[in-house]
Amino acid sequence: MKKIDFHVHINSPIPIEDTVKYFNDMCKRFGYCGVGIMSTIAASSHGDDPECNNRALEIKRLMPGSFAFASLDHKRDFISQTREYMSSGFDGIKILEGKPSVYRYYGYGLDCERFDRFFEYAQDEQIPILLHNCDPEQNWDISRADERAKEKGWYYDENMPRQQYFYQAFENILCKYPQLRIAVAHMGFYADRLDIASRLLDSCPNMYFDITPALIIYSQLSENKDAPEFFRKYQDRLIYGTDADNGLFGFAREYNDKKVRVITAFLENSSPCVIDGIKINPIAAGNSILQKIYAQNAMNFLSK
Ligand SMILES: [Zn+2]
Repeated sequence: MKKIDFHVHINSPIPIEDTVKYFNDMCKRFGYCGVGIMSTIAASSHGDDPECNNRALEIKRLMPGSFAFASLDHKRDFISQTREYMSSGFDGIKILEGKPSVYRYYGYGLDCERFDRFFEYAQDEQIPILLHNCDPEQNWDISRADERAKEKGWYYDENMPRQQYFYQAFENILCKYPQLRIAVAHMGFYADRLDIASRLLDSCPNMYFDITPALIIYSQLSENKDAPEFFRKYQDRLIYGTDADNGLFGFAREYNDKKVRVITAFLENSSPCVIDGIKINPIAAGNSILQKIYAQNAMNFLSK
């Protein structure tokens, strides 16, 4: 079965040939025919990484069957950049700026005027956008935020807008630009409110959800009796990915393997199970649904 890991990153500062080696090893082990490389200029807390786009395109060239999404440089005009990126071989634009830690980094979010103009242009031109908005609710509560979130600076105190602000900013964009060609990472953190997820998918025909972990999504889906029906109903709108980073050795490699085990068990198993401590109530999707989620939907997302 054709599979693509449509959501990977290249933030580890290692040589490009090592990145390609690690990604090729991952592709071989999990049977992927390519990856979707998501460039993120502002992913790290130690400043911008303006070379990230060039690396993404280079890796795409070195890995046939792969795709690359460019990240916006905030020192330059968004629209002229987008035009340049799309004509230089990128497949779309990665927007990480809906993530609260990135909002904090820039001091503004998706509801500012320059993003409004960008979304208008992206809708007109049907440019594929892979967008990260919000974060899990527990990241606003120090007693519940997990160690990894705290370590990465993904914990938000009272100086930050609440989760609701990010949902509202995003939903306002969809309301204004309902024809956007957009894939929303991590199910937009709507895995615990599938009613809203359904409403958004119903009103935005070119919108997809990527089902890349946060692992908490799979606990939330497993607790929700409506999840199997959601996956059946929206089988044409869900895209597989793992959020693998290019430094795929040691803990990072083990952690990515764990994510793959959890997603695979959730999609494919037929009876409840525990995967690395996570209770999974699987949806037992058949081959035709799996084929769409693992590859076909990503291809449809990319083609106008
Ligand atoms: Zn990501």
